[in-house]
Amino acid sequence: MIPFNKPAVVGTEMDHLAAALASDKLSGDGAYGKRCQRWFETKLPCRHAMLTPSCTQALEMAAILLDIGPGDEVIMPSFTFVSTANAFALRGARIVFVDIRPDTMNLDADLVEAAVTSRTRAIVPMHYAGVACDMAVLNDIASRRGLAVVEDAAQGLMASYKGQNQGTMGHLGAISFHETKNVTSGGEGGVLLVNDDRYLHRAEIIREKGTNRGQFLRGMVDKYTWVDIGSSYLPSELQAAYLWAQLEAVEIVTADRTRTWNRYREGLQDLADSGRIGLPQIPADCVHNGHLFHLKCRDLAERTALLAWLKQHGVMAVFHYVPLHTAPAGALFGTFHGEDRHTTRESERLLRLPLWYGMPEADADQVVDAVRGFYQRH
Ligand SMILES: *Cc1c(COP(=O)(O)O)cnc(C)c1O
Repeated sequence: MIPFNKPAVVGTEMDHLAAALASDKLSGDGAYGKRCQRWFETKLPCRHAMLTPSCTQALEMAAILLDIGPGDEVIMPSFTFVSTANAFALRGARIVFVDIRPDTMNLDADLVEAAVTSRTRAIVPMHYAGVACDMAVLNDIASRRGLAVVEDAAQGLMASYKGQNQGTMGHLGAISFHETKNVTSGGEGGVLLVNDDRYLHRAEIIREKGTNRGQFLRGMVDKYTWVDIGSSYLPSELQAAYLWAQLEAVEIVTADRTRTWNRYREGLQDLADSGRIGLPQIPADCVHNGHLFHLKCRDLAERTALLAWLKQHGVMAVFHYVPLHTAPAGALFGTFHGEDRHTTRESERLLRLPLWYGMPEADADQVVDAVRGFYQRH
């Protein structure tokens, strides 16, 4: 069976883990933690990067930082992972779901302004498959209406929009290093990008359990104490050492995934040309990172049949997401603004093909053959 995913392994992880173990410092923000942080600040680049134990926690930090609370509204797509919404629902906010564009599966920026009310505090675009949302339009709405922008760039490491890396365009951005993402910090991990200096001081406090320990460590105060709400948002040095190994190889990983992505694209193009399936559309101002490859079936029934067919032919394919507004918690904590023209219909047609770093060409070809076999049969 061709698996759906294999966590990336670049080969130098054990060396860096051994070095971290030998350093006698395993808690957060050690030598590797700082190295990773500087990497984001110089390579993406971004103003400030703070490693977190997961992207979910980076999003939670963002919601605390923005002082989101009961009565506030936050705009986002319904076609996203639960953490995008949960981070804000946890603070008591009302989630306002806006429809997506069928071509990119991203928040339709042209529908956002109509969803803004006097209670709206933030817009949370999610860059699906490492293909960016229309950030020029979203940032313009946000600045005119006094809103914050938090990019859920969980899938977007090394993917860009008009030459700017994902996660660096909003006030705050969050990237994931979960084992299913392009780069992992040993299974779980994330980073919060703080792109606006106004948020830096408090971000540091929230991340350090609500204390001013950061200032203490820099010798700015002579003792540290509880000054705000916060939690434990530091990953261990072992996670950072693992991440460092992968950041050093990120160009190789991205190029390899993009090669597989292109192989799928070429192998399936004529099925798209003849209208049998839909293939990913990449807007001209976006560079993607080969994070995931999806195709669109005619409808839910065809997708169910194709998934079963692929399984019979040794291919583990999957689908996502169940639109959040149709989920039990989505109905409790959110409302869909306007008409659901595309979210439900497009999510029901979407199917993801296996894709991981180092996937052999023969495996990709077997996947292509299996998909083609299905459409010859049906
Ligand atoms: C993976 C993912 C997350 C969560 O990342 P974790 O690091 O697993 O917490 C959030 N949003 C989106 C869109 C994701 O794909």
